[in-house]
Amino acid sequence: MNCLTCGAKMKTQKKDVPYTACGLSHVTLRNIEVSRCSQCGEEEITIPRIEALHQTIAQALIAKPSRLNAEEIRYLRKYLDWSEADFAAHMGTTRETVMRWEKAQAHMGAQADRLLRLMIATKGPVRDYSLATLRAISTQELPRVFHLGLTVEHEEWQAEAA
Ligand SMILES: [Zn+2]
Repeated sequence: MNCLTCGAKMKTQKKDVPYTACGLSHVTLRNIEVSRCSQCGEEEITIPRIEALHQTIAQALIAKPSRLNAEEIRYLRKYLDWSEADFAAHMGTTRETVMRWEKAQAHMGAQADRLLRLMIATKGPVRDYSLATLRAISTQELPRVFHLGLTVEHEEWQAEAA
């Protein structure tokens, strides 16, 4: 792989990298490919299966044996793909309260903590439902018939567009 900045050859190594880009300060991705340019120092990180990763993080957070903190609440809200207002409506509170939770200005109550965990737990595993897919759907086009084939394999349903 060549450096996108200067074009020099990059050297790839496996490393543990902090994943602060997801908004959580204490998440480390282990054994991740990091390419570094020997000329300019540019680094490129390859994160495989990012949606599955985000799902795994969410599942791990709801198994956390202590209350969810501000950045975890924010992460989970975004994982559910809700705005502060959407989240407030689902939680039966106000947008202002959600903002206070996410800025660590107020603690989320025990019931709200459990409700948020439950919403994550009942959110099914989402595959192939990326923003890229959503953006690709034309808003002008009329709906078309969608043939779907479903097969059970190892007691898990697999869907396939036919
Ligand atoms: Zn470079």
